[in-house]
Amino acid sequence: MSFSELGLSEAILRAVRERGYDTPTPIQRQAIPAVLQGGDLLAGAQTGTGKTAGFTLPILQRLSETAPRKRGAVRALILAPTRELAAQVEESVRLYGQHVDLTSMVMFGGVGMQPQVDRLKKRVDILVACPGRLLDHAGQGTVDLSNIEILVLDEADRMLDMGFIHDIRKVLRLVPKNRQNLLFSATFSDEIKTLADSLLNSPALIEVARRNATADTVAQTVYRVDRERKRELLAELITRHNWYQVLVFTRTKHGANRLAEQLAKQGISALAIHGNKSQSARTRALAEFKAGSLQVLVATDIAARGIDISELPHVVNFELPNVAEDYVHRIGRTGRAGAVGEAISLVCVDEDKLLAGIEKLIKRRLPVEILPGFEPDPRIKPEPIPNGRQQRGGGGGRGNGGGGQARSQGRGGNGGGQRPQGSAPGGNKPANSRPRRRRTPQPA
Ligand code: AMP
Repeated sequence: MSFSELGLSEAILRAVRERGYDTPTPIQRQAIPAVLQGGDLLAGAQTGTGKTAGFTLPILQRLSETAPRKRGAVRALILAPTRELAAQVEESVRLYGQHVDLTSMVMFGGVGMQPQVDRLKKRVDILVACPGRLLDHAGQGTVDLSNIEILVLDEADRMLDMGFIHDIRKVLRLVPKNRQNLLFSATFSDEIKTLADSLLNSPALIEVARRNATADTVAQTVYRVDRERKRELLAELITRHNWYQVLVFTRTKHGANRLAEQLAKQGISALAIHGNKSQSARTRALAEFKAGSLQVLVATDIAARGIDISELPHVVNFELPNVAEDYVHRIGRTGRAGAVGEAISLVCVDEDKLLAGIEKLIKRRLPVEILPGFEPDPRIKPEPIPNGRQQRGGGGGRGNGGGGQARSQGRGGNGGGQRPQGSAPGGNKPANSRPRRRRTPQPA
C-alpha cells in the first residue's frame, strides 16, 4: 500500500515524499483514513510506530480543506506529556505541513512566558502544548481554546502517570463540545479507559503491535557485571567497538549526571539530559547527539520520552528500570524504521528480580554475556536498590524546569515490579485496578 491510497491530498503527499517515506506504517494505514473521516479515534501505539504522522497528516489535510470557525483562532490542540515530545510533534507538524497554509506553535514550561504570549498574538492554527503551561496561558487569558476543532491527547498514559489528569480535565472544559478527539496511548489502564469513555464519541479503535516487544531488528543482550564495575565496562564497550550515538539510561537524575561526568573524564563525550537541566541545555544536548558530535547521551526514562532519533544504533541500560515496561520503551529507541539496533543491559546481582520481570513481560529470555576481565565476583551479595521504591522518574510535571524541589512519590514499584501491561483498546482485561496519581510531578 502507498500513501496515495489513503486519501491524502497532493500537498500532503508531497511533504511525505520529501521526508523519504514510501510506505505507510500500520498505524498510519489505519489512522489516516479514520481521522480524515472526521470521527473520534482511540489508538494503541507507542513512539516508533509512526503515530505522529498518523495523526498530523490527516489533521493538516482536514484543516487545510475547511474554513476556520473564527478567523485567526487556534483550530487544533495537541497535548503531549513532555517538552521533548511536544517539540518533536510540532516539528513534524511543520515538516508535513510545508505545502499547506497552516501555522503551528509549541508551548511548554521551563522557558519564558512572554515570547509565547507574543507568538500567540499572531496566527496559530495548530498548537502543540504541555498541559501545565497551556493552563497558565489559559488562566492569563493569553490563549483562546474556544474554537478548537480537533483535540489530540498524545501519549495519554504518560500524561496520566505524570499526574496531568486534573489539568487535562480543565483543558476539556475550555474547548468546545463539538470537536474531533484523538487519543493515543501505549497502554490501557482503567484510568485511560475512563478518560477515553468520557472524551470519545463512538471512536474508531486501532491497535498496532507493541513493536519492540516483538521487534527482531533489536539485538538484545545482557552483560552480567558487578555493581561497581558498570561504568568501566560501559567505557570499555564504547571504546572497543567505537560506538557512537549511544543512548544510556540510568534510573536517577543524579546517576545520569555522575555517569556523564565520569565518561567525559575518560575522554568519551557525554552529556546528561533530564528535567533538572534547563530547556536550552536539553535542546543543545539533543541537537549535538543527533548531529553525531556527542557520543553518549545519558538520560532518565521520562527525559527520553519523545526523543526521536531514527536508526539509533545503541541503547544501553546502565541500570534496569524499576518498571519492566520502561525497558520496552527504552529499547524502542533503537532499530527504528527497519534499521538494526543493539540494546544492551548491564545487570548486577541486585537486579535479578528486575531482569526476571522484564523477561516475563517480553516473554523471552535475554542472552547473557560476560566480557572477559569483567566476570562478576560470586562473593558479592545482592543489595537493595537505593530508593528503588521512589525512583520511578516522575516526569516533566508542569515543566517549570526549576527542578530543585522535585519530590517523587512511590508508585509501589518493587523488586520485580512492572506496570501491568495494558490490554488492547476495547480489550476486556483491565490492566490496572487502582489508579495511580502523582500529585507533585517530578521533573525528570
Ligand atoms: P513516531 O512513532 O511518530 O515517533 O515516528 C517514528 C519515526 O519513524 C520517526 O523518525 C519518523 O520520521 C519515522 N517515520 C514515520 N512514518 C514513516 C514511514 N511511513 N516510513 C518511514 N519512516 C517513518
